[in-house]
Amino acid sequence: MKPRILLTNDDGITSAGLWAAYEALSPVAEVIIAAPSTQQSAVGRSISIFEPIRASPVVMNGVRAYSIGGKPTDSVIIGLYALDLRPDLVVSGINIGENLSFESIMTSGTVGAALEASNQGTKGIAFSLQVEDQGDKFDDPRHHSQSFDEAKRIVREICMKVLREGFPEHADVINVNIPSIVKGGYEVTRLARKLFETGVEKRLDPRGRPYYWINGPLLEDAEEGTDVHAIRKGNISITPITLDCTAFDADKELQSLFCP
Ligand code: MN
Repeated sequence: MKPRILLTNDDGITSAGLWAAYEALSPVAEVIIAAPSTQQSAVGRSISIFEPIRASPVVMNGVRAYSIGGKPTDSVIIGLYALDLRPDLVVSGINIGENLSFESIMTSGTVGAALEASNQGTKGIAFSLQVEDQGDKFDDPRHHSQSFDEAKRIVREICMKVLREGFPEHADVINVNIPSIVKGGYEVTRLARKLFETGVEKRLDPRGRPYYWINGPLLEDAEEGTDVHAIRKGNISITPITLDCTAFDADKELQSLFCP
């Protein structure tokens, strides 16, 4: 019996990255796509609770799939609880653009979907491909100039290894980032603190009132051992992620402040 994979993403069901993941995994697994109908990058793990969610069966590239009128997280919840897909693994991606550092993974819809899956009892792996030009993240995800050939090999290799040998016990999600040009091999990393030099650009609307764009260049590098550094070297970054964000080391200090 082939393992069953629920495949989703945040760039939307038309994204070349999603279909690259499908092509990588469909020879070795039963892959069912439930992905957002539209571009949902940077929505993190947000969830639709004020709107109904439609799950429309569609045929794309000759494949039956579910186009979900919602967020990446909604797609996972619908896949698990409405479509009753019972996957062995949830795969999110391949995202067009890297998802590195805890600054980014907390806003990433790609990682958000994998976190949701794991919180609901099915482990998730998020895959993201570094873009050479940051502008590529904002282009039509149906047409992406970079090749997914190397990324497809990596997606298949990692998923098959995890499905065969088991998901690491102490990780809830595995966050994989693939450099645009792979120069090295796999590197198990920790999250860097930041990926961007955050800033805002102020502009004026036609009536002279200001509005803002969040924007900022990528940071050049981060410390040895981080996901950012691994990608800068051309390695494939594999970061284990946990759902429990409790700061256990702050326990005593808070106890003495509030429960002396
Ligand atoms: Mn995205």
